[in-house]
Amino acid sequence: MMTSQDYINREDKYGAHNYHPLPVVLDHGKGVHVWDVEGKRYFDFLSAYSAVNQGHCHPRIIAALNKQAEKITLTSRAFYNSVLGEFEEYITNYFGYDKVLPMNTGAEADETAIKLCRRWGYDVKGISENEAKIIVCAENFHGRTTTIISMSTDPDSRRGFGPYTPGFIIIPYNDVNALEKALEDPNVAGFLVEPIQGEAGVFVPAEGYLKASFDLCKKKNVLFIADEVQTGIARTGKMLACDHEGVRPDILILGKAVSGGVLPVSCVLADNEIMLVIKPGEHGSTFGGNPLGAKVAIEALQVIKDEKLEENAERIGKIFRDEIRKIDSEMIELVRGKGLLNAVVIKPKNGKEAWDVCLAMKENGLIAKPTHGHIIRFAPPLVITEEQMHEALEIIRKTFAEFK
Ligand SMILES: *Cc1c(COP(=O)(O)O)cnc(C)c1O
Repeated sequence: MMTSQDYINREDKYGAHNYHPLPVVLDHGKGVHVWDVEGKRYFDFLSAYSAVNQGHCHPRIIAALNKQAEKITLTSRAFYNSVLGEFEEYITNYFGYDKVLPMNTGAEADETAIKLCRRWGYDVKGISENEAKIIVCAENFHGRTTTIISMSTDPDSRRGFGPYTPGFIIIPYNDVNALEKALEDPNVAGFLVEPIQGEAGVFVPAEGYLKASFDLCKKKNVLFIADEVQTGIARTGKMLACDHEGVRPDILILGKAVSGGVLPVSCVLADNEIMLVIKPGEHGSTFGGNPLGAKVAIEALQVIKDEKLEENAERIGKIFRDEIRKIDSEMIELVRGKGLLNAVVIKPKNGKEAWDVCLAMKENGLIAKPTHGHIIRFAPPLVITEEQMHEALEIIRKTFAEFK
């Protein structure tokens, strides 16, 4: 029988080395739990970067997948299919927009938003050709394509991948004054922002930042574009993180949990004035809007509503932060977050860092991953019960006690 190490060695030998995973080899999952190839059970506190909000292998989503898989999976957009319109009607009603443009990955949805914004800038706002600019924030994460890394400030994401796409203005995150100044440029078409910076380490901006930014954009006829790929779909205790401040983005970017982690399904939502600037033949994707993904997404989004996962994320998230704050450990610098998107900032001790804490938590039955070296993100599936959270907190307490 193959051991975990055998699986790791095989990936190492045949796979590109573009990731550095925690040494755990997962085999199956159910709800908040995953099991490794040796049969050991873990709490999953990453949820595939918030793609698995509905829990692993949610029975309703898997049933929808299986049922549609027997009928038809892919038609391409060269033809209509009997499911896409149902998905489009469902998701536009769900989020309150005129139209949706379906893609697959988060990066593709961000790319779509950039193209939409630029085209709107030329066709509607009247910016001269090739002059449109989009304001973005330092420490952002919007994906891995060549254009998206062009607006990144992370050296690991950028180094050696140039030349970069022009047309971006980078300002500090959580800085309304910097935004106001950048908006003085009449060629600005949009402001692209994460309502909470997930990959940066769950950086929560000051209260009122989103609303103030939105209002400034409106004053300058600039599109407010929210990348809710990680923060959306109930993760932060509301359906969208922008809902915390009553902001309705002009362009809304969704991915990850749209399909409950079952298939890559992403999309961009906007009203007609924006969405209809793209005409037939000008943008698309072979798999975007495929009937399999569309059926899965409808079920995954309905599960969020039926199981009231927003409320659960809000309530259990509070318990998590309260209990972490009570832990007496020099290594815990602070805990921050909203709903069930939280992070603990780790102060290294005796050469032990966030990575070592994650390894020890893994041994104790909970998996999470460090981001930026000194931050651990804690983001379990939103189906977690209070009892399960207390069980998980016991593992976290025990782990920090081992570093005393
Ligand atoms: C994960 C993520 C993306 C990219 O999604 P992929 O599916 O990995 O391409 C974009 N934006 C944010 C905020 C993300 O968290």
